[in-house]
Amino acid sequence: MSLKDGQYKVIAEVYQGEKLPLIVNVENGKVAGIKSEEKLADTNLNKAVIDTFSHEISRTQSLNVDAVSGASYSSKGILVAVKKAVVDAGGSTDDNEISTANVEHYDATTRTNVNDYSNWREKPQKIVKTIDTDLVIVGSGIAGLAAAVQAGELGLNTVVLEKNSFVAGNGGGVEGIFGINTKMQQAAGIHTEPEKIIAKEMQLVQYRVDGSFWVDLVNNSSANIDWLIKNGVKLTKVDDYAGICQFPTFHWFKDGVAASGYVPYMKKKADEYGVKFLLNTPAYSVIYEDNKVKGVYAKTTE
Ligand SMILES: Cc1cc2nc3c(=O)[nH]c(=O)nc-3n(C[C@H](O)[C@H](O)[C@H](O)COP(=O)(O)OP(=O)(O)OC[C@H]3O[C@@H](n4cnc5c(N)ncnc54)[C@H](O)[C@@H]3O)c2cc1C
Repeated sequence: MSLKDGQYKVIAEVYQGEKLPLIVNVENGKVAGIKSEEKLADTNLNKAVIDTFSHEISRTQSLNVDAVSGASYSSKGILVAVKKAVVDAGGSTDDNEISTANVEHYDATTRTNVNDYSNWREKPQKIVKTIDTDLVIVGSGIAGLAAAVQAGELGLNTVVLEKNSFVAGNGGGVEGIFGINTKMQQAAGIHTEPEKIIAKEMQLVQYRVDGSFWVDLVNNSSANIDWLIKNGVKLTKVDDYAGICQFPTFHWFKDGVAASGYVPYMKKKADEYGVKFLLNTPAYSVIYEDNKVKGVYAKTTE
């Protein structure tokens, strides 16, 4: 593959229709990186998408990159913009693979496909240890920690498998949490109308999501926040994300990050319930019997 070297300026349409100017750098005929124009303010979430995509696209020379969790709209907009840059550089993006006409094609057999989950039912060659438990949670990000605490409340014997050497996942950088008509909002004299928020969110994604999830999230958001606070999570203020969002539904974690206001408290709570965390232990595949998932195979360093 050989694209024309240069810096290609393109505009990505991101969350809420905002325009995010990007520079796609092509070096030695390949996409070498993506960055936003430095002077322009963009959100942490957009930066996370750009960093992830920059790394994955330059590594694989493919646009088959998973959307960044929590930023699917921006992910899609940024990918569309990168496609345009590839075309500007004389390439094409059929099946999302970056190529140019009349040049060597990517050898699929040598590529590690980041979306290849074909081993999901494979049994490892060697099993060194078996742990019997009521519940296994894969991943100790923001969701895994909440699941661990809830499992503790329910009295379940629980094991959490975490591939990293620390808990938090992407959740450590999360700044705050969405809530409607919470006690914090009431105390701040804020009233929000759920119907308006659901209607706006549905409109923003062009009605291509299942609205019942939004209704569920909205209806439970206040009770969810009560539950988090009961379990020690520290929230400091509620606003419209410092003027950026349309509705004042953003509840900030202590110090503006979950690494400070959420993760340590939820981990402590899960520990108190006796949840067992196995760090550096990636889940590898599932144990699938009688059309049911009965467990998980994981790699251990023990
Ligand atoms: C920069 C940034 C800012 C954000 N800000 C906000 C915000 O302010 N508010 C908000 O609501 N959302 C925000 N989001 C979105 C939010 O981070 C995600 O929605 C949230 O982290 C998803 O939680 P999760 O637990 O599903 O995933 P993660 O937090 O990503 O956790 C997944 C965990 O699973 C582990 N794991 C993965 N594969 C395996 C495996 N095979 N075996 C074992 N462990 C595994 C990972 O190591 C990780 O610890 C933000 C995202 C980013 C990137």
